[in-house]
Amino acid sequence: DPLDWPTQDLVTYRADTTPDRTAMVAADSGNKVTYRELDAAVDAVAAELDQRLDASNATVATLLPTRPAVGTLLFATMRLGATLAPLNVELDSETLHSQLSTVDADLLVCGDSTASLAAEIDGCPVVSVDEDLPAAAVADKTAAAVSADEIATDVTPASLSRTDTQLVIFTSGTTSEPKGVRLTVGNLVASAVASSYRLGVLPDDRWLVCLPTYHMGGLAPFVRSALYGTAAVVQRSFDADATQQVIAEHGITGVSLVPTMLSRLLDAGWEPPSSLRFVLLGGGPASETLIERCQERDVPVCPTYGMTETASQIATARPETAFGHAGTVGQPLVFTDVTVVADGATCDPGERGEIVVDGPTVTPGYLNSDGDAFSDYGFRTGDIGYRDADGRLWVEGRVDDQIVTGGENVDASTVADTIRDHPAIADAAVVGLPDEEWGQRVAALVVGDVTPTAVRDHCAERLAPYEVPKTVRAVDALPRTASGTVDRSAVRSRLEPPDESDESA
Ligand code: ATP
Ligand code: MG
Repeated sequence: DPLDWPTQDLVTYRADTTPDRTAMVAADSGNKVTYRELDAAVDAVAAELDQRLDASNATVATLLPTRPAVGTLLFATMRLGATLAPLNVELDSETLHSQLSTVDADLLVCGDSTASLAAEIDGCPVVSVDEDLPAAAVADKTAAAVSADEIATDVTPASLSRTDTQLVIFTSGTTSEPKGVRLTVGNLVASAVASSYRLGVLPDDRWLVCLPTYHMGGLAPFVRSALYGTAAVVQRSFDADATQQVIAEHGITGVSLVPTMLSRLLDAGWEPPSSLRFVLLGGGPASETLIERCQERDVPVCPTYGMTETASQIATARPETAFGHAGTVGQPLVFTDVTVVADGATCDPGERGEIVVDGPTVTPGYLNSDGDAFSDYGFRTGDIGYRDADGRLWVEGRVDDQIVTGGENVDASTVADTIRDHPAIADAAVVGLPDEEWGQRVAALVVGDVTPTAVRDHCAERLAPYEVPKTVRAVDALPRTASGTVDRSAVRSRLEPPDESDESA
């Protein structure tokens, strides 16, 4: 195991070695802390948690948007050896209640913006925290606030083991209910180390966090920045104009975005400043058109493929790779083994199969059942792809998206892309439905003012006959998960059973 070293408290290390460097900046308020100040804030929060909980065994859930307090709580739980479970603020109280019991939370930390939602969730004690920097004041919702002299100021850092669960993050719930993924300090540190070998680190780096911090893409930059001794700049929510301004005013050198955000920045005429070193683009596939637009505008785009179960990045392409080979996510990161497997055997270059990952970033397992996620080759991602002759990885979609109809393989995302090219169609989702005659039949949910016949004719001109959807239904909007991905199980139930308004062949 290349990363079997003792784990150190990252913020303590930074307070000792680079105390005066900026650790975190709240773009919304302009507040900022150095590593010395962050260390003190982390200590205060850790002390408060320690007073309330048997902290080294405790699970602290959070209900917080993208705010600096998430970073402070991450490092405070790390210091205590407790587990942090950031919950998705877009979920309803019933789902949140069930996630609280899944993680077995001892405490729920909310902020001003989530206090009313937190009050609706019945499950465990709730405390409210200042969302901004410094996040030192944890005040009980009901009891009187603890006075300052009651707060112990130096918590002895827990002796962390690389294999202790430090984080529980729920997946986005695209294929089924969100799964609680356990991640260790070792997973997080390994990911931050590996990321630095692909993206590089400069002393004055400033990483803009404007993705939700209850997903890996938003949370990982906190760990990376603390390890590197650089700054994380936190913006509560993405906005094409406001985010452009933050990038310019704060001298941002790197930012993590999902493809829709980057498209919106480009639509708004964004020209990146020369100080911007990378746009880490992930969460879902980036179209070739988007990569070409980046090349025209000199956007240093780094398309990445990753998932919650691997603490974020698996493979990342640098701009020169992305521009020369639009659509690739590049080579796997250092320490990460990627094997493409079909029918139980490893694939040759160019051959499609399931992407299987092994290495120090891979989760020790889910909170509940691991099902058949682990195989002899490592963790099964559930994604389909291939390596090219130069080792670059190309991700083609999810295993679940592969439809087998009458013995022919159909890729659902290819069909959906074709449907979306129709001028009257804003969006489309394609799934395979069980079919007595064909095994599965191709079915499409479309957003737009079109007849099923028009959709089928459009596809028939561009696709093989077996790829043309047999069932088409128009809706006002695609069902989406709280994180914005298309909710595939809801798509299925909207398409099944077919009713008279369908065109079924
Ligand atoms: P669930 O596991 O609950 O179905 P999810 O897989 O969407 O949800 P995440 O862990 O947030 O939850 O997302 C990881 C998935 O996102 C990957 O397995 C992959 O399917 C998709 N993905 C991420 N990056 C890319 C990319 N660059 N290209 C294509 N797909 C990507
Ligand atoms: Mg998944």
